[in-house]
Order: sequence, then structure tokens, then C-alpha cells
Amino acid sequence: MFNVEILFILQKLVTTNAKTTMEKENKDFLTDKYYYDEDSFQSVQFFPKERTEKLAQQYKKILETLGEDTNREGLTKTPMRVAKAMQYLTQGYFLDAEKILESAKFHEDYQDVVIVKNIELYSLCEHHIIPFFGKAHVAYYPNGFVTGLSKIPRVVDAYARRLQIQERLTNQIHDTINKVLAPKGVAVVIEAYHLCMMMRGVQKQNSYTVTIASSGVFKSEPEKLSYFLDLIGIKS
Ligand SMILES: [Zn+2]
Repeated sequence: MFNVEILFILQKLVTTNAKTTMEKENKDFLTDKYYYDEDSFQSVQFFPKERTEKLAQQYKKILETLGEDTNREGLTKTPMRVAKAMQYLTQGYFLDAEKILESAKFHEDYQDVVIVKNIELYSLCEHHIIPFFGKAHVAYYPNGFVTGLSKIPRVVDAYARRLQIQERLTNQIHDTINKVLAPKGVAVVIEAYHLCMMMRGVQKQNSYTVTIASSGVFKSEPEKLSYFLDLIGIKS
């Protein structure tokens, strides 16, 4: 009994602590547009009541229009779940990617390339609102400043969690790093599978799309770009 209670208290402490850290961290990067509701439906996410209920009502109508019976057991809570899921998947609108990078920008006299590869990426195609997913790889040559390595994946997420096209996503990640760190060069590569192509349309299951945005020394010294592409397994 005693042990069980201790375990419960410990679990509670861990959960509360995780929640506070994550909420605090996210709050630091919010744009002015963002509204935060302490009364959110889930502990670490942002589902303001009024907005979530409005979305749920609309998803219920969509399901009915598609021919579903929204009163059957499996679907009664679906509109509310979708309302929350979609807000989660589009939370990037309220995250400020520049602030994320600026929060961990340090003077450092490191001259060689910094590469963060195989960053998992999940986004939604803005034409069909169907996922595309894959990997992002980022490389930059610092010019007096480096960033905390975890901040690069956070920048990727801030732009991926929106309605997107892969080309724009690639450019936005590139442009943000270029603007905030002003490095000697930046290169961003995204490899992604598009479910809108795989499940519908041309139904090509094995093709994936590669996009590249690069500047500075990656443009003026093409061997630097080739080196990066070789390293991530894309033969140039
Ligand atoms: Zn699409």
C-alpha cells in the first residue's frame, strides 16, 4: 500500500513537472496571435474551449455530409477528437520560429559545418489536408554564432505543423536560419512521402519528393553542397 502511494506521488510529480516545463517552453516561443487557455482540455496542449467546440460542431457536419451516422458508438466523440488533433497538427501558426532560434543563439568560434540530419517531419499538404512525412536535414557554416542543436528540429516543427507545401516548408526553414544566425551558408533538404499522391491521385507508393534550399558557401562552393548531400545519402 505504502509503495503504491509513493509510486502514485512520484508519478504525479513527474507529470506535473513535465507539464510545467513544456508549457513554459512553448509559451516562450508563442507569437502575439496566440491565445493560451489555462483551462485547456489536455494537460500539455492548447485547446481553447470555445474554438475546440466550434471546430467539433463543424467536423460533425462534415461527417454527416459524408454520409456517416455521428450517433453510432465509435463516432460520438470523433468530432471533438478531430478538433483537437487538427489544432495540434496546425499549432505551428502560433509558434515563432525566429524566437525559437534566438532563444539559444551563442557566440562561438566554430568554423566547420554543423549538420543536423534525419529530423523526423510530419506535415499536412495544403491542397488536400492529407499528411506528408519524411526527414529534414539541415547544414550550416557558422559565422560567429551557433544555435542549440535541439532548436533546429523545433524550427522544422514550427513550420511543418501548418498547412504546407514541401517547397515552401524547405524555404522557410532555410530563410529563418539564414536570418537569425547569419551564417556563411545554409542548406536544407527535405525528403518526403505524400499520402495525397499515394492514397489517391496517381497512387504512386514508392516515389518521394526531395527539395533543397541552399545559399552562401553552399552555392559559391558546390563541393560543399555535394559533401552534405553525400553525407545524407543523396547522390549529387
Ligand atoms: Zn496534396
